[in-house]
Amino acid sequence: MESSGGGRRIKVATGILKANDRLAEENRRRFDEAGVLVVDVMGGPGSGKTALLEATIPRLKPEVRTGVVVGDVATTRDAERIAVHDVPVVQIETESFGGACHLEASTVRQALDGVDLESLDLLFVENVGNLVCPSHFDVGQHGRVVVLSVTEGEDKPLKYPLAFQVSDAAVISKIDLVPHLNIDMDTLRSNVEKANPKAERLELSSLTGAGIEEWMAWLRRALGRRS
Ligand code: MG
Ligand code: ZN
Repeated sequence: MESSGGGRRIKVATGILKANDRLAEENRRRFDEAGVLVVDVMGGPGSGKTALLEATIPRLKPEVRTGVVVGDVATTRDAERIAVHDVPVVQIETESFGGACHLEASTVRQALDGVDLESLDLLFVENVGNLVCPSHFDVGQHGRVVVLSVTEGEDKPLKYPLAFQVSDAAVISKIDLVPHLNIDMDTLRSNVEKANPKAERLELSSLTGAGIEEWMAWLRRALGRRS
């Protein structure tokens, strides 16, 4: 009884992920047809995802036409912050989709109704603040970035390895705060590398601009591979 219950549960979970993967492929096809590079930005609440986009968007203008789909459980605060930079932005409030803690391919697909993909070169998907389940859901992106701030501690890449394993780049953010913290940057760096030796490791401060140029170079290389 117990094992059949367990089996059913596993089947249901696999079914959900398979359905998501199909929709993610459809999203990716739409992105490819429109020639837009899609980057999923993941990270815990307060890791600095929106701040990174705010630092990035003006530096991409005018050569790279950028748009943003941003997911939060509630509020349109992030969309308002991004809209200041005069780029198209769609806010997803996940509480209305019943899947509050991450974005899925279907949620992103609905948000695309509000985006003119043909007019974009780059679309950021800022995922719901969460270091766990966004990693399980392909939303149709071409690349993934995980953002971890220095305030979160050295051990997070070991505790939440999947977010790092599925990411092409790992951004250590808020490095301007390091002098005020009891953090061992070498341990943090080596933990990021342990979680995913292949991910590009970047360290930056969206506030001071330190390290931002290396991040911009990584993005431009990703954009170059698309065209
Ligand atoms: Mg945000
Ligand atoms: Zn979730």
